[in-house]
Amino acid sequence: MKFEAHHKETVVLDPKTRAARAIPSEIRKDPLTGRTSRICHFMKLKWEKPDFEKITAGTEKICPFCPDKVLIITPYFAEDLIPEGRLVSGDMVLFPNIAPYDSLGAVATFGSRHYIPMTEITPELIVKGFRLAFEFFKRVEKLKHPESVYHIINWNYMPASGSSLIHPHLQVFSTSSAPNLMRQELEAAKEYYNANGTNFWDDFVKSEESEKKRFLGRIGRTAWLSSYAPIGVAGDVLAVIDGVNSTLDLTEKDLSDIALGLTKAMKAYDKMGIYSFNMNFFTGAKGDDFTRFHLLFSPRTFFNQALGTPDVGALRNLFNETLCMAFPEDIKDMLAPDFKL
Ligand SMILES: [Zn+2]
Repeated sequence: MKFEAHHKETVVLDPKTRAARAIPSEIRKDPLTGRTSRICHFMKLKWEKPDFEKITAGTEKICPFCPDKVLIITPYFAEDLIPEGRLVSGDMVLFPNIAPYDSLGAVATFGSRHYIPMTEITPELIVKGFRLAFEFFKRVEKLKHPESVYHIINWNYMPASGSSLIHPHLQVFSTSSAPNLMRQELEAAKEYYNANGTNFWDDFVKSEESEKKRFLGRIGRTAWLSSYAPIGVAGDVLAVIDGVNSTLDLTEKDLSDIALGLTKAMKAYDKMGIYSFNMNFFTGAKGDDFTRFHLLFSPRTFFNQALGTPDVGALRNLFNETLCMAFPEDIKDMLAPDFKL
């Protein structure tokens, strides 16, 4: 496995003494797609957590996902898709996304509790939310719907991640249109398979597991690691599931293992003062043997917390060039204590 990095150096002079100081940076290439990620702006990965009571106070009054409103405000699915209108599991509700970006989009709440601190999100809660999303996927698949190709769960947790609501929820959609990065990865994995006769992800995990520098461990058949070329400013946690190509091939055990790993990542990033994240499924279509199902957990924070400056600026937003403020190998060391099994 080729892990390419272009090392650079910037020399600046001290304003008083004119003494030279060299500042390193690194441009890494994602081993699958060649997407570049800059390791730079080195700083201690430490943020101040805000007063959550202040942030969340009163937001439940206008929250459409709170139990007094969710069954009154949220829409029903068309009868040919979900005859009962919505899917319900205990206090969790899955309903159509009122701001759809694809034809089969849903939102699933994590239950009646309006604000759940990141460290109080349990594996059981995540599994329950995933199961409800899978019920939606299975319905779509059973109907042989033309959009039943890629079954995706996205999670924006807390406003810094792009969530417009405090109330924890999942974005759930089935689509024939793979989103950009997922499509690029699928194309690159197919190319790799055709050129080498092996699965990129299998080779990648094998290499990372033996190299150990970024490998966090295994939970069941799920391998956890710190991404070599992260998207997030505080790195990314990547989970790859052995032998699984697409979302619907995941077993109940896989879902528990994924949920457990996610809570470990949350615990570790909480210690850095981070309290927001994105999580996306990256899936192949059924029978896409050249790929493996994987997911990315990407912590979200601020460039300037006092001003509320997001961690996405022009470089990322318009060039899709990412910055990570510490070496992924050091991030692995920071996450490792929480991944001890
Ligand atoms: Zn709420």
